[in-house]
Amino acid sequence: MNIPLIDLKAQHQTLRTEINQAIQTVLDRTDFILGQDVAKFEEEFASYCGAKYAVGVSSGLAALELSLLAFGIGPGDEVIVPAHTFTATAAAVTFSGAKPIFVDVDPVTWTIDPEKIKQAVTPHTKAIIPVHLYGLPADMDEILAIAKKHDLIVVEDACQGHGSKYKGKLAGNLGSAAAFSFYPTKNLGACGDAGMITTNDEQVAESARAMRNCGQRVKNVHELPPFNHRMDNIQAAILRVKLPYLNQWLEARRRLAGLYNQFLAGTHIVTPVEPAGYYHIYHLYVVRTQDRDGMQNQLKERGIGTAIHYPTPVHLQPFFLQNGQPQGSYPVAEKLCGEILSLPMYPEMTDEQAEIVAAEMKAILAAAG
Ligand SMILES: *Cc1c(COP(=O)(O)O)cnc(C)c1O
Repeated sequence: MNIPLIDLKAQHQTLRTEINQAIQTVLDRTDFILGQDVAKFEEEFASYCGAKYAVGVSSGLAALELSLLAFGIGPGDEVIVPAHTFTATAAAVTFSGAKPIFVDVDPVTWTIDPEKIKQAVTPHTKAIIPVHLYGLPADMDEILAIAKKHDLIVVEDACQGHGSKYKGKLAGNLGSAAAFSFYPTKNLGACGDAGMITTNDEQVAESARAMRNCGQRVKNVHELPPFNHRMDNIQAAILRVKLPYLNQWLEARRRLAGLYNQFLAGTHIVTPVEPAGYYHIYHLYVVRTQDRDGMQNQLKERGIGTAIHYPTPVHLQPFFLQNGQPQGSYPVAEKLCGEILSLPMYPEMTDEQAEIVAAEMKAILAAAG
């Protein structure tokens, strides 16, 4: 039996008629760029997150970049980011003109470590980008307290966190602004690239709205940095079809995660934590195991798809080595990257499939002795 890491076809099959209809409507209307579905999806997504404003953009990276720029962050500024995340978190800082300052992650939650943030703050620090990694919110109370003390902006990287909650409040409404990605494999995925900024700050929303569309506040007056980071209207129409299903998909992911936790309890496999007051939405179900590469290869032989998110911490990626943080700079992140493994996880996966994955893992551990 083959169990893939993720199965986009399963979801598409159930929504195929609705999605085809939504696409056809846009084709008939021909409002392809910043059309009525973008405006409606912005309203619906802002309301979902409990944020006042939402600005649809072309990707999660564009959402991060425009958020930083809308707060006036640029050359000479420092922005604190976790060493363990997807590259885009740090790339957005570089593209804004500021410098990414990496800090290590917490050894238990794997999200940015507030104690390490305190040590990294300098007079140049302007912002912190906590990442809700794998769908678990970062430790926001601690992060917001540091931000308040030093007068820093907090931009949530919520690209993996649609619908995740911290003390009852939804991601997208936890900091100064938030960036979401609708890359097809994300918990809310388009049929192409798309992203969103959410914020309660009217001016930030307004600047981001102008920057995404060639810097125009008023037509033909290119006042702000003239990017093209517009959201495609067909993608918005598709996302409007999917948003009403998001909560039930998150519940399915949580049910499967609970089963994995239960089946893998008592083994050497370290399963993900969900501290009290957190609502993890398991964009990825990531475990930790010492012989990670062996486990991955043997699961592959047994027809089970896995992946590594991510095999190299961002400070050691060739592009960021110029920042000057060599191997050994962030030991928790570096060790984690050698031991993490993402197991199959998608809402349409069955309980039986989760049970098979866990049973195969136990058999592999038993054979290794
Ligand atoms: C996916 C992702 C991004 C970037 O999103 P794109 O839409 O691919 O640009 C940024 N940060 C994190 C943590 C992500 O997972």
